[in-house]
Amino acid sequence: MKTVLRSNDPCWCGSGRKYKRCHKLSDEPVRPGNVSPRRSVPTSIVHPDYAEGGVPGSGSTSAIQKPEVIERMRRAGRMAAEVLALAAAEVAPGVTTEHIDEVVHEACIERGVYPSTLGYKGYPKSCCTSVNEVICHGIPDDRALRDGDIINIDVTVFVDGVHGDTSATYPVGEIAPESQELIDATREATWLGIRAVQPERPIGDIGKSIAGFVEPMGYGVVRVFGGHGIGERFHTSLHIPHYYEPRADTLLKPNMVFTVEPMITMGSYHHRVWPDAWTAVTTDLKRTAQFEHTVVVTKTGAEVLTLPPESR
Ligand SMILES: [Zn+2]
Repeated sequence: MKTVLRSNDPCWCGSGRKYKRCHKLSDEPVRPGNVSPRRSVPTSIVHPDYAEGGVPGSGSTSAIQKPEVIERMRRAGRMAAEVLALAAAEVAPGVTTEHIDEVVHEACIERGVYPSTLGYKGYPKSCCTSVNEVICHGIPDDRALRDGDIINIDVTVFVDGVHGDTSATYPVGEIAPESQELIDATREATWLGIRAVQPERPIGDIGKSIAGFVEPMGYGVVRVFGGHGIGERFHTSLHIPHYYEPRADTLLKPNMVFTVEPMITMGSYHHRVWPDAWTAVTTDLKRTAQFEHTVVVTKTGAEVLTLPPESR
């Protein structure tokens, strides 16, 4: 609908203003902005091993975690969700993604936690902010959010030696109905994926459930990026496809901990990466949304470690 609007047509939002003077700005492709210098974390906060050199160390990559590790991850998950909620409260037209990053960074330091993305493989910021056609790994910069944008904020924290990882997609001001539908479908798909988690069932069940819901609606499911095992390391070797992959036959086991984080697209699920080597965008520049939780497999299903403060 939006794509056929011409500059002088009335805007889709019903404001009565011409499209070019209203929401056209938020339909333009996202461009790289200026990235501010790296923020520091006090040495009193325990840093992950990659914080200086950028390279995660070797060590156990098992996705099955000991109960005492899971107990620490409950706290990390809660903290990540709290920080995400604070960041989300800042989302508004005119606010830069740089500001959101600053809020995330300061909220982490206040809690004595390290923002896991900072320095990870050279990543320069304390969260990821992925706007409109950015699938994931958008770097906060001086671009101001525009009325009609959608933004995913992805927060991971490191505390007590473990990581907690969560993200959500938010509307900026008034968004087009099709953008709201994408966000709602992606949130629902994430929960369907989480509900598909059952011990002794194959990992492929998760993507089967997600794709089975969104693909009939005409959406795409990003294949290149998936969920990941998580624990004392930010990413363990376990990979969770969000599309249906019948060969993903690894069985889910109690105490496995991983993320479910489907990236759902309005058009193509193919991506390209900006010259910054991080920002992944859809090849057709159509919008994409994502939600993410860290979950642990229980004897009967999944426990979500990153529930937002209001829904606990
Ligand atoms: Zn408008």
